Amino acid sequence: MSEENRLRERIALHGKSLFERGYGCGSSGNISVRLEDGILVTPTNSSMGRLDPARISRLDWQGNLLAGDKPSKEAFLHLAMYQERPEERAVVHLHATHSVAVSCLAEINPENVLPPITAYYVMRVGKLPLLPYYRPGDKALAEAVRTAAREHRAMLLANHGPVVAGKELDAAVYAAEELEETAKLFLLLRGERTRYLTPEQVGELTAHFPT
Ligand SMILES: [Zn+2]
Repeated sequence: MSEENRLRERIALHGKSLFERGYGCGSSGNISVRLEDGILVTPTNSSMGRLDPARISRLDWQGNLLAGDKPSKEAFLHLAMYQERPEERAVVHLHATHSVAVSCLAEINPENVLPPITAYYVMRVGKLPLLPYYRPGDKALAEAVRTAAREHRAMLLANHGPVVAGKELDAAVYAAEELEETAKLFLLLRGERTRYLTPEQVGELTAHFPT
């Protein structure tokens, strides 16, 4: 099997797994991987739970369709992330319930939305800026993602959901899952007096596990 076909299969496997565990409903959410000359990205109006590997869209760096079905309307978010972060090889974007809920809260810190609740969140996600709301398909959103991507591999789109990059597909999926679980914990703990990790503990983690 060619490397491209192997990646197509793995996108479909991860999509099915995410969908079956409730990380996406309907046709929401999209997954991409980097190729030498562009990306593979899930098609528009496709359910992550029933992806046909052969029909996953292949785009060049300008977003032109080279093979497969018409791409997700959100493919430009993925392209912006790869263009700014040459080391990343996969991007996952979800409309997962708890992450979206947090993205709608009026009083969150837009520079770093979630506190350091657990070590794995700090190791896999780190800082999470909030980007302003844009209507679906607005190209200004791609520019906002491009600017944030210069310093961050994960970001939360207001009233929408997270975009997370990783050095390979598994890493991007695991980071997106960790983010969703941390958003859930954050909501569970709201109103409770909570011990978050201290700046020293966060510093120790980032020194031992650089992203
Ligand atoms: Zn979206």
